[in-house]
Amino acid sequence: MSGTILCLNAGSSSLKFALFRADDAAGLTALAHGKIEGIGIAPHLVTRDARGRVIAERRWARGDGETHESLLQGLLEQIEHDAGRDLVGVGHRVVHGGSDFFAPVRIAGDVLDRLTALCPLAPLHQPHNLAAIRAVTALRPALPQIACFDTGFHHAQPAVAQRLALPRSLADEGMRRYGFHGISYEYVARRLAEIDPTLAAGRVIVAHLGNGASLCAIDGGRSIDTTMGFTTLDGLVMGTRCGSIDPGAILYLFQHKRMTAEAVEHLLYEQSGLLGVSGVSSDMRVLLDSADPHAREAVELFAYRIAREAGALVSSLGGLDGLVFTAGIGENAPELRLRVCARLAWLGIAIDADANRRNDPLISTADSRVAVRVVPTDEELMIARHAAALLAHDANAPTSG
Ligand code: ADP
Repeated sequence: MSGTILCLNAGSSSLKFALFRADDAAGLTALAHGKIEGIGIAPHLVTRDARGRVIAERRWARGDGETHESLLQGLLEQIEHDAGRDLVGVGHRVVHGGSDFFAPVRIAGDVLDRLTALCPLAPLHQPHNLAAIRAVTALRPALPQIACFDTGFHHAQPAVAQRLALPRSLADEGMRRYGFHGISYEYVARRLAEIDPTLAAGRVIVAHLGNGASLCAIDGGRSIDTTMGFTTLDGLVMGTRCGSIDPGAILYLFQHKRMTAEAVEHLLYEQSGLLGVSGVSSDMRVLLDSADPHAREAVELFAYRIAREAGALVSSLGGLDGLVFTAGIGENAPELRLRVCARLAWLGIAIDADANRRNDPLISTADSRVAVRVVPTDEELMIARHAAALLAHDANAPTSG
């Protein structure tokens, strides 16, 4: 199987994309990646080549009426033009696979309907992920599409890690802990097996710290516990999400503050976390540069909660051999890593300050009892690998008849 694979990660106002060349002999080669931001307001497209150099940039004026679908159409036309109409498939990041979907799946039959039924479990992500699939179907009905799930990597966790302490009837309906960021964790676990196979065979916590943030306890390459649960609200403090919160606090918002379900959803997903605590920004760069005491407090809370949840995952793992930082904050914010590691010094973690400042791949000292690494994630490459494997499988499958 050879051709160009497009990977899409569609959000409410942004569309991230990446292009790979798939070739039986050479494997996958990154061609370009980019992002359209400000969809619905004033879209802004930036495309970069594999080395990160900007190769295309375009801004649309406010009120141009560009939608997800029209922007996607422009993107597909451009790709087909550049790739010589060699586009063989599209891989999508889909946040929720529910109980039925964990392995990547080709969009066909009733798959899209079954994924649509999961929208209430990820109301801020799933509808946009699926809208991109529908848009590609409308524009290019014959183009194969593959969904990869953020929940997939966690599906084989022990039952005790997946259970919510609610009545069984609700668990039977699918109310359980799923976990997210699985595409990133799968990529990091595989990358770790390439660069440090001994550590990858051991007990590792991976900290995916971006706008959304979670930790995953990985034992011998398998997810055994994670901080996100039934929804992407659980666990760590995030850019605008609250993370773990006393359920009684939510009852209080309903019963005594008389807030509607929509208002509570907006509060917990979009106005809380770093933004809510700092009152300044959800962006870690801005907070680290700010002298505002509330910004400092938000950063401290972010680090405190990472260390606290990491302590819980050390218990799930029965010890710790490695800690890996990834995603926007994890890969680029030495000060934040230092704060987290200082709080975890009781585990025997010792950080090499210079290596940490340089964002080196290994930032712990030689005598640290726990190896601490920085591994850049690549969710798009992971999606492309799955899409290429499924496309090759389908191409090789005997035709029935
Ligand atoms: P998303 O979850 O949207 O994919 P990212 O993984 O891109 O998010 O991470 C975004 C976060 O990473 C933002 O809070 C941003 O401030 C932070 N970040 C990116 N670069 C740096 C940096 N050099 N120093 C500190 N924080 C950074």
